[in-house]
Formats: sequence, structure tokens, C-alpha cells
Amino acid sequence: MHSDGEAIRVEARCTPIGAACPDCSHWTERVHSSYLRSPADLPAAGRSAQLVLRVRRFFCTATGCGRRTFVEQVPGLTRRHGRVTKRLRRTTGAIGLARAVGPAPALPSSWASSPAAPRCCAG
Ligand SMILES: [Zn+2]
Repeated sequence: MHSDGEAIRVEARCTPIGAACPDCSHWTERVHSSYLRSPADLPAAGRSAQLVLRVRRFFCTATGCGRRTFVEQVPGLTRRHGRVTKRLRRTTGAIGLARAVGPAPALPSSWASSPAAPRCCAG
């Protein structure tokens, strides 16, 4: 994990030596290649968070499976073709839902700013 004061960068990789094919569930340990993925994540402690995942592409070795290669997924973090983490997508989805419900209710008039001094300090 690195921090430059503004952004937090977390580097991670998967530890299992293999992965299951998403189509046929066949377990394979034949690695085709690996590359870095950077799904955006929620801010952490008020700073932007960048997750850097090293993911691997595997060969599916099952006979009869139409899929030749696939990229491993990290449970709870990534999904196929996803650019953001599940956590960030859930949060932004909740915000979108709240906004879709309607505008925020008006604040009580007593909360409105007034040019007069607040009552607690008047007198
Ligand atoms: Zn397969």
C-alpha cells in the first residue's frame, strides 16, 4: 500500500494457484498471461483510493468447453468487464436511488440562515 498524501494506492494479487472456468467450472492452473487492473474504489479517509490488482488469464483445459481462456475474478471486488469495484458500484447505486426518489426535503425555517445574530448569542 502506498500513499502520497492525496491518493492511496493498494496493490494486490490473487493467491490461489488456479481458477475455475466461468462457463464450465473446470479448475485449471494453466496461466496464459497476467496483467494489472485498476478498478476505481471508494475514497478512503477522504483520499481517493486506487486499487491495482494483478489478475491472471487462464486456459480452460476442459474438453468440450467453448471458452479457451478466461480472466480470474476476485470475489467481492471485480466482475467481468467491470471498471469499478462492487463496493463503489453499490454505493453509487444507492446515491442514485436516493436522488431518484426526489429532492431533499426543505430544511425547517428555523435552520435557515438569518442576518440577525443567533438567539443563543443575542442579548
Ligand atoms: Zn471451461
